[in-house]
Amino acid sequence: MFGKEYMLAALETICRDIIEHEEELNRLDNAIGDGDHGTNMARFSRIVLQELPKLAADNEQLGEIFHQVGMRCINEIGGSAGPLFGTFFLRAGMASMGKTVLTPADWAMAFDAGTMGVSLLGKSSEGDKTMLDAMFPAGRAMQEAVGKGGSLQEVLAAGAEAAENGVLYTKTIQANKGRASYLGSRSIGHQDPGATTIMLLLQAMHKVAVE
Ligand code: ADP
Ligand code: MG
Ligand code: MG
Repeated sequence: MFGKEYMLAALETICRDIIEHEEELNRLDNAIGDGDHGTNMARFSRIVLQELPKLAADNEQLGEIFHQVGMRCINEIGGSAGPLFGTFFLRAGMASMGKTVLTPADWAMAFDAGTMGVSLLGKSSEGDKTMLDAMFPAGRAMQEAVGKGGSLQEVLAAGAEAAENGVLYTKTIQANKGRASYLGSRSIGHQDPGATTIMLLLQAMHKVAVE
């Protein structure tokens, strides 16, 4: 079970880790896109870090916090990733509306709702070499861990591991969506930057859950 305190600590770690990986995310996007994914995500992360105290003071409900983060994605990230990550947080927020704590099952459900939102908006699915190749397997792994009665730590460990494998999988496939799809088969061999960001997010959440 987790509440506002955990979520704010997790958000802080997510943002710090993304900023730490800014160059790497740009390098990944440079190989198959326009090289700005790290810059985009780091700009958003710096704004969220700056606003965390106000987010904490103004909101008791987790759904509202996700909603606020989603709005920052849409307003600050730009490109294709802004609306996509924004939709992820907005949908996760809708699924958590009114809740001040989330059980592992609630979290897995919110994550799946977010994933479905990305898939609908992006007209994309698993195997297109996008962030969804980290999201869908992570969602399945978390649901499975929930089914076994896993704790939040166990559920997030399963999600982070599946996302890591999903990121490796993106190296082996051709992009069908986003800028990378312009490269056709030349996108094979390169890791998807958006999937890498999802992996960082789940790794950060896991790290904070075991602290
Ligand atoms: P842009 O491509 O506009 O420069 P970013 O570089 O910030 O935006 O983000 C690129 C990432 O967005 C990709 O690595 C991929 O994971 C994700 N992405 C792009 N198009 C889609 C889509 N249709 N569905 C899901 N994810 C997508
Ligand atoms: Mg880009
Ligand atoms: Mg761009």
